[in-house]
Amino acid sequence: MAFGPFFIGSDIYRSSSYGAKHPLAIPRVSTVIDLVRALGWLDPVAYVESPKATPAELLRFHGADYVAALQRAEAEQHIAPETARRFNIDCNGNPLFREIFSRPATACGGSLKAADLLLAAADGAVVYNPAGGTHHGRRDRASGFCYLNDPVLAMLRLLDGGIARIYYVDLDAHHCDGVADAFAADPRVVMLSVHETARWPYTGAAAEEGCGNIVNVPVPAGFNDSELEHILDALILPLGAALAPEIVVVQCGADALADDPLSKLALSNNALWHALAALKRLAPRLLVLGGGGYNPWSVARCWAGNWAVLNGIAPPEALPAAAEAVLRALSWSRSAGRNPPERWFNTLADPPHRGAVRAEIRDLVARLAARVHIVPDILAEAV
Ligand SMILES: [Zn+2]
Repeated sequence: MAFGPFFIGSDIYRSSSYGAKHPLAIPRVSTVIDLVRALGWLDPVAYVESPKATPAELLRFHGADYVAALQRAEAEQHIAPETARRFNIDCNGNPLFREIFSRPATACGGSLKAADLLLAAADGAVVYNPAGGTHHGRRDRASGFCYLNDPVLAMLRLLDGGIARIYYVDLDAHHCDGVADAFAADPRVVMLSVHETARWPYTGAAAEEGCGNIVNVPVPAGFNDSELEHILDALILPLGAALAPEIVVVQCGADALADDPLSKLALSNNALWHALAALKRLAPRLLVLGGGGYNPWSVARCWAGNWAVLNGIAPPEALPAAAEAVLRALSWSRSAGRNPPERWFNTLADPPHRGAVRAEIRDLVARLAARVHIVPDILAEAV
């Protein structure tokens, strides 16, 4: 019997918000769930309710004082200024909101559950936790809308369970600084991040290599589908083939899409789906996470399409009425939300955004690709 794919979700994402003015005021996971259900793509046996990670589980990576502070902030709906400063909460995009502990702990519980399912699974297993991918979370502080770090916790669970090599591919517009710092000295996790150059958090330069296990691909504004495909074919897939990982983890942030307000990258969702389909073929087990994404329509359509890819479903040209109704029910306070194009309601796939592969990308990829065949040797020495 085939194992999965499993879709991990929770209604906590439907009922909680970071606050009206925050980029994460928009619904994301709940819309994806509604959309894939409306399309008839979510068999009840494939849906797994996300557990909430326990404080003890979070302590595998996070500090005890920090976890306790999040719990207390939720219980009291208040945080003392000194504590807030220490943990970077109630400032810098990390608001004190009603579920400040429970929501990120549920995203972590989902990714831990995914890791457990993959550890128990035979080859061919696929698990999707679109609420995961909070790749900026630090051991002792919130960062970049991320309070905890579910990719780190999930990969630690996989390593603790006996997995010896993980290939983590991060396609979010922002560099995965929290994940990179957590595993910079651990050759069992090989990380490749494609992210916008000169954008927050301003880390992820091509020269940063960890213990030989980090490959950074900073890309310029206007990054198009052909350019991602080039990076995929010349670097991401050859590196994956050389590593022969037991598990691939993909952070599938939707903020590198052209319709997203928080980056200047210009992908269509087709490019991310193509990459995901190729990565699925790379390893016997696959964990797919969400990440950034701040346009409610482009996130929902992209991440529903991820689920189609994982299930081998070809998205329809035009959405059926029930799916269109899910998208028409959304609203968005940003200016682009006042007059949304019809295609945000009645299609899943964006118009492809193909173009020239710019020389700076070709040159960088060629330089990085020259390392590919030696990475496994570097890592063998680092063990
Ligand atoms: Zn991002």
